[in-house]
Amino acid sequence: MRRLCIILGDQLDRNSPIFKDFDRQQDLLWMAEVAAESTHVWSHKQRIALFLSAMRHFGAELTLQAYPLYYLKLEQHHYHSLGEALGNCLQTMQPTEVRMVRPGDYRVWVEMTTTCKNYGIPLKQLQDSHFLSTPQDFRSWAGERKQLRMEFWYRQLRRQYQILMADAQQPLGGQWNYDHDNRKAFPKSGPSVLPPLLTLQTDQISEEVIKLVQDLFPAHPGSLSNFNWAVNPSQAQQVLAHFLDHALPQFGDFQDAMWQDQPFLNHSLLASSLNLKLLAPLDIIKQAEERYRQNHAKLAAVEGFIRQILGWREYVRGLYWLHMPQWKEWNALDAKHDLPSFYWTGDTDMNCLRQAIRQTLQHGYAHHIQRLMVTGLFAQLYGVQPLQVHEWYLAVYVDAVEWVELPNTLGMSQYADGGLMASKPYIASGKYIQKMSNYCQHCRFNPAKATGEDACPFTTLFWDFLDRHEMRFAGHPRMGFMVNNLRRLSAGERLAIKQKAEEVRGRSGVT
Ligand SMILES: Cc1cc2nc3c(=O)[nH]c(=O)nc-3n(C[C@H](O)[C@H](O)[C@H](O)COP(=O)(O)OP(=O)(O)OC[C@H]3O[C@@H](n4cnc5c(N)ncnc54)[C@H](O)[C@@H]3O)c2cc1C
Ligand code: SF4
Repeated sequence: MRRLCIILGDQLDRNSPIFKDFDRQQDLLWMAEVAAESTHVWSHKQRIALFLSAMRHFGAELTLQAYPLYYLKLEQHHYHSLGEALGNCLQTMQPTEVRMVRPGDYRVWVEMTTTCKNYGIPLKQLQDSHFLSTPQDFRSWAGERKQLRMEFWYRQLRRQYQILMADAQQPLGGQWNYDHDNRKAFPKSGPSVLPPLLTLQTDQISEEVIKLVQDLFPAHPGSLSNFNWAVNPSQAQQVLAHFLDHALPQFGDFQDAMWQDQPFLNHSLLASSLNLKLLAPLDIIKQAEERYRQNHAKLAAVEGFIRQILGWREYVRGLYWLHMPQWKEWNALDAKHDLPSFYWTGDTDMNCLRQAIRQTLQHGYAHHIQRLMVTGLFAQLYGVQPLQVHEWYLAVYVDAVEWVELPNTLGMSQYADGGLMASKPYIASGKYIQKMSNYCQHCRFNPAKATGEDACPFTTLFWDFLDRHEMRFAGHPRMGFMVNNLRRLSAGERLAIKQKAEEVRGRSGVT
């Protein structure tokens, strides 16, 4: 055999460079399902089912197209890890070269490169053409700058790909960013119209996989009963069209809003399809831009959506490869507590957390503000060890892959990198959640109170966070005013908050 060409579980890209120069007479495609990919963090059952079903659909299509494919199914072998499975094949097949598109995650990159090295087989890594920029592009852009900000990287890509541009240099509408228009809460009566839920067909492959996951991983978190994720490109296109038709016009305005018993609102539900590479980001961006040009959606809505994919998604990938593996070690705020056990069950009196966690267990999904300003905010204020928070996020979301999850969790949400990604910690009291949702109306706590029987734990821990980090943030340009507010409290009030915070941390089950 000439080449063994690896396709990883999140590389299900029909236009992958792995197919370039592929010689069906001499080369072999290689895919493997291994248990370690589902157990290295305690993965949600839907996340495992989605990866396996999408991989099997991809494998079936390759076979249909008469590609020579070696496909290891989970239930048909005993190799624990990818490295073990690959090593065994290298030994028996003795290819002259291994080819692989650069893996998304550092851990997998180490495992695959080490295995090839150990077996003495040269490994050629190909650039991942799914993305609109390369880690090298990002490194050279970052190299010239003292401080990195997503906004400037995003503008560069907008110019490069001519997205929402009036001419070669200037943005449509004269403004790059409509973030300020994207922070509305719903009126008191709630969302006026919400997109209908699109139900995807479950075929035989998915049914078999769902049964397999139930049998092999019964103790893993989450339920499989609501599985409704795209497992192939045609379903992913269906999800995209549904979003563009029904939700995009409202996306911008209510991007940050939350509402009781409404897990999806106007969000696209596209992250898992993007991260598995069932969809190409540029295709999504162009289709969204077209909706603006057809007057189907306002510029603010379309720009807000495109910024997430062209801006944030490319930016976090660049940052990830710039700072791995060190990023995983940082704990700038010296957070040392264990993740409260209710993160795995949703059994808590705090309604906002109960809502966000229960929908996560039911669907493997929560939208960005629920992740950042409910589950992430609470973990940060509580002082949970960043690695435990990271492992939770990597486990429970269907779209979770480390290159995008880790910067969002350790950088944006936990400030574990001391400000590398976010210019200040994303902290707030319960009043922010009250402003952006109706969760507090269904809660026994009072978001305005930091002490007392009905004090909101977010509000208590918000003041306690400032108290614990007073010296660190006193001179901070964007945090100083919060510290000044803290300093207006009397010594007695500060002591009462500290005691209440200890009570919140010590309370088991309720917090
Ligand atoms: C703590 C935390 C952990 C996260 N973990 C992940 C993760 O594992 N995988 C993941 O894809 N996203 C992650 N995100 C980013 C974001 O929350 C999800 O992409 C989004 O909620 C997915 O839902 P959606 O597809 O409906 O997105 P929409 O709200 O409809 O947004 C459209 C698309 O933009 C992209 N996007 C939006 N925000 C971001 C962002 N901050 N970084 C990168 N891409 C973004 C996604 O591809 C998404 O599908 C995380 C955010 C936080 C705060
Ligand atoms: S009162 Fe506090 S705990 Fe309850 S929903 Fe509001 S923010 Fe969450």
